[in-house]
Amino acid sequence: MGQKRIHEIPEWVFEFHGHRCPMMPLGYLAGKYALKLLGIEKEKDTNTYVFSETGDGHHQGCFDDGVQAATGCTYGKGNYKRLQYGKLAIIVYKPDKGAVRIRPKPEMLNEISKFEFFKYRKSEIPASQIPREVSDEVINYILSKDFEELFYYEFLKDFTYSPPKKTMTRIICDGCGEPTYENYIKIFNGKKLCPRCYEVK
Ligand SMILES: [Zn+2]
Ligand SMILES: [Zn+2]
Repeated sequence: MGQKRIHEIPEWVFEFHGHRCPMMPLGYLAGKYALKLLGIEKEKDTNTYVFSETGDGHHQGCFDDGVQAATGCTYGKGNYKRLQYGKLAIIVYKPDKGAVRIRPKPEMLNEISKFEFFKYRKSEIPASQIPREVSDEVINYILSKDFEELFYYEFLKDFTYSPPKKTMTRIICDGCGEPTYENYIKIFNGKKLCPRCYEVK
């Protein structure tokens, strides 16, 4: 499939992700497309949010690593949430800029599933052990498609979200002596306990 690539995935993203699979690049492009549609840059801090409709109970959650790399919304910064719907779709939201929902076209997902890469995966061969030319074949296919060929999008007019209030203050747990963020401390018999010590009190 000698198709011309029109997108590139930086090598650090493959390194971060750990192997070369098609779903991470698909997520990367979904994230890029969302930024383009909202007219915003990759998030450096925490002012943009991603709500991913993937879940913990299925394969292909690799999609989320691509979305995080492209948008700068990450699990660690707390502006990336999985909604556990079991769907490949994301909502990207920035207050004052709006929200957009992106989903891969079902017919495109079907096309991608036909590649040899998935024959290996179905015989339970981990992605890291699939020959490079087999994984590159499907990745190059994705990278040769326009955003419009890969995804549907929809602006969500009334979407809104306020993140929970965060603290930097830590308190020493009276049980284990470990510093614990203050809003996670629970009181029992006048003692300030971390959730683990509270559980076994
Ligand atoms: Zn992967
Ligand atoms: Zn404790």
